[in-house]
Amino acid sequence: MTIFDYQVGPAKTAKANTPNNNPTANNNQAKSATGSSVATYGDLMKQLEQPLFRAKQLAQWLWVHRANNYDEMTNLPADLRDKLKTAAPLKRAMAEKVVKSKDGTRKYLIRFADGTSVEAVGLPSIDDPACADSTKRLTVCISTQAGCSLACVFCATGRSGLIRNLSAGEIAEQVRIVGEGFKLRVSNVVVMGQGEPFQNYNATLAGLRILNAAEAEGGFGIGARRITISTSGIVAGIRRLADEPEQFTLAVSLHSAIQETRDKLMPGLASNNLNRLATALLDYWKATHRRPSLEYALIDDVNTSAAETAALISFAQRTKAHVNLIPLNATDANLKAATQVEASKLSGALRDAGIEASIRAERGADIKAACGQLTQAE
Ligand code: SF4
Repeated sequence: MTIFDYQVGPAKTAKANTPNNNPTANNNQAKSATGSSVATYGDLMKQLEQPLFRAKQLAQWLWVHRANNYDEMTNLPADLRDKLKTAAPLKRAMAEKVVKSKDGTRKYLIRFADGTSVEAVGLPSIDDPACADSTKRLTVCISTQAGCSLACVFCATGRSGLIRNLSAGEIAEQVRIVGEGFKLRVSNVVVMGQGEPFQNYNATLAGLRILNAAEAEGGFGIGARRITISTSGIVAGIRRLADEPEQFTLAVSLHSAIQETRDKLMPGLASNNLNRLATALLDYWKATHRRPSLEYALIDDVNTSAAETAALISFAQRTKAHVNLIPLNATDANLKAATQVEASKLSGALRDAGIEASIRAERGADIKAACGQLTQAE
């Protein structure tokens, strides 16, 4: 294990330490002490027979002071620093390449210690004179897996298959690197990069807890509601998230509310059928009182017909969700973006049906940094 396999928090009970990445499993273990089955810095200190206040010091060195090695952690005793070098090696991820879009978006190719890479994207707020602090806001889109096993047809990531899951610290490293690149405090995080977060549930939640924890606890201090987890629709993961103590925001990539169309676009999701998905989303809303959002890429001749629109309206009404319409971004797939007219027609129909809908202004498409365009390495 490296230090990136741990998350913020005090030591847990022994029962909570067994890794369990299956969102369908009994959640009692995950709800114990710190709400996750990923080992904490407190567990590490306990293992090294250290006082538990060292856990917070370690977290602060890692994520607030951003130390590059244990020798920089001068308020930790030298013998503890030596033990940590062996028990949980620290090797920071690196930004290997940065590509800048004309709209201010930047795509980062980030390489981890074992050579695996992912892409993350920084989206600074567009200057808005009406908003005094608009230039200070930075949203970071992060990945939770290198590659993805789900092979959605409109997505470049899925084409390379799954390379491996990322650890909690590797997920947080992306936010650190992009924030440092912009020299801005990260205000929002969207988990919409490579991978399906609920197929790497434990590490994803543990990574988000590092981002959400207050700086005094050694985290980034990003509010839970400013962190959005986007799933392709893994029902068991949605049910498990509903049960977590944090108020993370949920988005679901829907792309069609007709089963046959969705199965063609997202063949890896067939077992999470639309009926099960709708029930899980309604239960999520009932349990959390937070409305999920449905992401809907507008694809010409595929999901903008009258029948598709009617199905989307019915699905959104049933799940209390609002809808984000997304212009389809170019990948190698043989699919065409819907026209502006089709997009306006669909969004008008949603609004007429009383559903909150917006057409997302896509950014970073010129550097292949928009939704569905991220790949392994260049
Ligand atoms: S859209 Fe998401 S779930 Fe589908 S292949 Fe791409 S990364 Fe995986």
